[in-house]
Amino acid sequence: MDGRALAAKVRAEVAAEVAELGDIGLATVLVGDDPASDIYIRRKHEAAREVGIRSDDRRLAADISQEELLEILAELNEDDSIDGILVQSPLPKHLDEAAAISAVDPAKDVDGFHPLNAGLLYLGRPALVPATPLGVMRLLDEHRVQIAGARAVVIGRSNIVGKPMAHLLLQANATVSICHSQTVDLARLTTDADIVVAAVGLAHLVTPDMIKTGAAVVDVGMNRTEAGLVGDVDPGAAERAAFITPVPGGVGPMTIAMLLANTVRAARSRRGTVLDRR
Ligand code: NAD
Repeated sequence: MDGRALAAKVRAEVAAEVAELGDIGLATVLVGDDPASDIYIRRKHEAAREVGIRSDDRRLAADISQEELLEILAELNEDDSIDGILVQSPLPKHLDEAAAISAVDPAKDVDGFHPLNAGLLYLGRPALVPATPLGVMRLLDEHRVQIAGARAVVIGRSNIVGKPMAHLLLQANATVSICHSQTVDLARLTTDADIVVAAVGLAHLVTPDMIKTGAAVVDVGMNRTEAGLVGDVDPGAAERAAFITPVPGGVGPMTIAMLLANTVRAARSRRGTVLDRR
């Protein structure tokens, strides 16, 4: 499942929607100078520019207080020219990340991390959904992977990937198991699964023998090793899987594309021109 090709298609769709809707603004808030976060933010701005989304790059000093951060978020919430707001994680330790996420207007929460958006997803009434699991669903959909009735195993239970992933699959009528660091005998579950989504952060945790012949395998993991960037799934699993995402070039490019799609979704929703594809 080629994430680069599909991401290009999604970006083209987003660009067409932006051309129709007119001016759309995305604000990013980066606190401090973490080099990895700086790269992520620059990529997001570049991608936004390419599709015609205006972006506002807020860089805040590493020692900013919680009150000052919340004031800036309140200002962005009030700013009618801003449709989407994202707070780049991780924040410096002295700041309360959960409080910052909760301070973003849920209608502008293009990361889908606000408790209201997480709650709506849990209730099966998704509004703004985290970009990574949304990108995985789009990849499965594009390749016509049968989800209804399928046995799906999600490895990882983070709030940004594993949990929303499991809810989206459940909503699409899969029978979902969520595995995590305390799961006993992971292979017993994965070998029975039609769909496996690995979002752990351990290089090649999922070995070929853990995959059922004909399964769809999605590798969210990004692990920097001496051999370069590798996923959570051993590439040898491609011998058994009917569909598999590469790392790099699978889920990664989809995440940024879906962030742009979320920004358009937020803009439409704020303007009362919702295109509900779900
Ligand atoms: P996280 O650290 O928040 O969560 C990891 C999860 O893995 C936890 O729920 C934990 O219980 C589980 N886990 C740990 N060891 C395990 C084991 N031995 N067996 C089964 N489960 C185990 O991570 P995250 O933010 O969800 O990210 C997961 C991975 O996905 C990381 O490699 C991250 O870099 C990558 N990621 C990629 C994208 C993308 O766009 N491609 C986006 C987000 C995260």
